[in-house]
Amino acid sequence: MADFALSFDEDLEGAFLYPFGEDALALILFGAPGSGKGTQAKILSSELAMPHISTGDMLRSRMDVDDALGRTILAVMKSGQLVPDEMVNRMVEERIDQPDCQHGFILDGYPRTLRQAEMVEWLLAARGLKQLVIHLQVDYNKLVGRLTARRQCPQCGTLYNLLSKPPLVMGRCDIEGAKLTIRADDSEPVIRQRLEAYEAQTRPLIEHFRGSGCLRDVDASERPPAEIAREIRQLVEEFRASL
Ligand code: ADP
Repeated sequence: MADFALSFDEDLEGAFLYPFGEDALALILFGAPGSGKGTQAKILSSELAMPHISTGDMLRSRMDVDDALGRTILAVMKSGQLVPDEMVNRMVEERIDQPDCQHGFILDGYPRTLRQAEMVEWLLAARGLKQLVIHLQVDYNKLVGRLTARRQCPQCGTLYNLLSKPPLVMGRCDIEGAKLTIRADDSEPVIRQRLEAYEAQTRPLIEHFRGSGCLRDVDASERPPAEIAREIRQLVEEFRASL
């Protein structure tokens, strides 16, 4: 890691505006695009009362601002590439120091590169926080099908899937009645590029996390989301008990 120092001033611990609680934990949901990170994060955020921090959602809201930065983010996302590390690292650092993160938080879609993983480890160490990484394992062949069938409510963010979780009325959100939208990067060529970026830049992190003993594998291929969330909650409890 060249651009920022790995070491940190020990005095920093406890020097944050909103100090973290004793049981605070960074729960990292890790997996390929389409592995269900967003769905799990939404369920777990309400069950564990921890805020859901999605770098994809943060980038999409920034992209809605029609300025140079917004247009750059849009171009990168529509190409299926990753946004530069410095940008996402800064966004996450600012976000985790908000008061609602005091008892921990759920990271969805971050870290995605080795430099991001090093950054998050540094941020957590400086705050005295532990990380638990949940690896959502899904057969590669299933991912493209899942992503092309994905729809989202532009108002409340509820996720649907035409194959596994269709809305009650075709094309409309069950809650808001709003017309469901397809994400700009959920077209097949862009999906392929996102999966390539995952293979090249993100998948190698599995061994990095495994080496530090904080990774747990969860089978997320076929089982219903509620069952997967139950298993993750159990892993969180076991992890907390081991601290
Ligand atoms: P998915 O996990 O299905 O790809 P996300 O909403 O997490 O969906 O991400 C969508 C896009 O946002 C990515 O393809 C990438 O361009 C950008 N992005 C999200 N998180 C990161 C990150 N941590 N680092 C770099 N780019 C990111």
